[in-house]
Amino acid sequence: MRILVLNAGSSSLKGAVVDTETGRRLASGKVERIADGGHAAALATLVDELDDVGGIEAIGHRVVHGGTQFSEATPLTDDVIAAVDALTPLAPLHLPANLAAIRAAREHFPGLPQVAVFDTAFHSSLPRRASTYALPTEVANQHGVRRYGFHGPSHAYVARRAAEHLGEDLRDLRVITLHLGNGASACAIEFGRSIETSMGMTPVEGLVMGTRAGDVDAGALIAIARAEGLDLDGLDNLVNKQSGLAGLSGVGNDLRDIEARAAEGDDRCRLALSVYAHRVRKYIGAYAAVLGGADAIVFTGGIGENSAAMRHRAAQHLQFLGARLDEDANRDARVDVSSPVAEISSANSRCRLLVVKTDEEGEIARAAAQRLAAAGAKEAGRVIPVAISARHVHLSREHIDVLFGEGYALTPKKELTQPGQFACVERITLVGPKSELERVGIIGPERSQTQVEISRTDEFALGIDAPIRMSGDIAGSAGLTLRGPKGEVTLVEGVIQSQRHIHMTPDDAQRYGVQHKDIVEVAIDSAGRDLVFGDVVVRVKDSYKLEMHVDTDEGNAADLCRGHEGVLYGTEGRVRSLRKQPR
Ligand code: AMP
Repeated sequence: MRILVLNAGSSSLKGAVVDTETGRRLASGKVERIADGGHAAALATLVDELDDVGGIEAIGHRVVHGGTQFSEATPLTDDVIAAVDALTPLAPLHLPANLAAIRAAREHFPGLPQVAVFDTAFHSSLPRRASTYALPTEVANQHGVRRYGFHGPSHAYVARRAAEHLGEDLRDLRVITLHLGNGASACAIEFGRSIETSMGMTPVEGLVMGTRAGDVDAGALIAIARAEGLDLDGLDNLVNKQSGLAGLSGVGNDLRDIEARAAEGDDRCRLALSVYAHRVRKYIGAYAAVLGGADAIVFTGGIGENSAAMRHRAAQHLQFLGARLDEDANRDARVDVSSPVAEISSANSRCRLLVVKTDEEGEIARAAAQRLAAAGAKEAGRVIPVAISARHVHLSREHIDVLFGEGYALTPKKELTQPGQFACVERITLVGPKSELERVGIIGPERSQTQVEISRTDEFALGIDAPIRMSGDIAGSAGLTLRGPKGEVTLVEGVIQSQRHIHMTPDDAQRYGVQHKDIVEVAIDSAGRDLVFGDVVVRVKDSYKLEMHVDTDEGNAADLCRGHEGVLYGTEGRVRSLRKQPR
């Protein structure tokens, strides 16, 4: 998809056109010195600048604050805009600018879908212990005071790139990401989810920044305000505009200037550098404790990507974490669009140190496209009925004879969705080493080999360990004893957990753009229990009826009920390794 990403500040509007298939930036531009209410004119100028691009299919807006309400990218409707508007007290400088750009873009591109991508959304996974300030609960609740965190798209993007570089699944990693730009924040990412971050209710907290103070004793601010007679705007100005590297160094907020002055012996600049680096290192240590260790530490942002000297200072004394900087690699590290990741740890470093060039616009475009693809899937009819298969058995002729008597014919009770299949009146007992499960259903007609399909919970109850398999693939699976009214059968193999799968016809497969044995993801929208199932195998046959089958554990995990539907993700990046063999 071709997405125009808009990033509106109070006096500037940045735009970039991103092709989400290739991740390439096709054009970018910036309009500065926008006066109050001038966002519409600024957008028109910007669009002129990006004119030769064309073919824009959607717009992704960077929205700085989503409060507790928005935990993912959200298509902009009148209701959503009103809800964002209501969050203005949380970000009184930024949100009005974001909203002005949104309104201007809706007017300028009335036909295009627009998506809000929130800076805070990635941190909606923070546990309460991390998001809660020790202020009076009533006061905090009344004013939405809690840690929200910012720079979400950057932390999410660099963590994913880092995992790709390491050849690991982000869901297996503990990563500390350090976004060190003019604004700066650290994030502890546990198995893909943000569990702690240094910016708080506002972007003032945490690391030392270009002009923001980061952590500072609240009592000190009260003392300064009292002594200098500062009002609230004065305080705001002090902590947001006059502090940080600029306040410390006295030569402005550009790290390059500060490094140059420090090299000449300027004491304030030297102190600024060491305060900055010390704060970063302190957060690395804290986040390593929060995560219980770290597999990777990622530097990004203008400073993190470019200042080898600052990375060197920040990465000192991290041996306790198993992190060892390779000084040469650090000095030589260069990251750019064509080569966005550089490794700067030594070969024996257990915790890997990486520099990753961030791409906030690309990530915003990606999040917007993914959200639209999910919404589009519904419209495009990629909706799949989902059914829960309770534990059941398929029986061979030989075993029906033993369990129910020679020549016994099973009695059909109810036809099932897949043509020819039926639930039987008869029931049997599963006898495991630990316990028995009674009244287990039988699905007819009889098969060439007996197969028992149970859930993981059933296995624990029975005291056996069955593999995840496709139906029919029972070689080397688990054994179990079956008891019927006339006798018992002890299976050496035949007990499996059914691999989740979708039955469909060749026509369905063509419509969904998938093939027999593809592995896909299916998203379940479920109040309070949304779930995306991966490792879903597509099974295509003329006689099949469209339906996804999961077992009772899986169904309960997503709180599925009768008539529930899932959405098969199409080619918009959600189909994972095609034709991967099931385990
Ligand atoms: P950002 O907000 O991510 O654009 O980062 C801006 C910060 O990165 C400023 O403090 C710059 O001084 C700093 N920066 C950019 N390039 C370099 C560099 N080559 N060496 C040191 N700092 C740099």
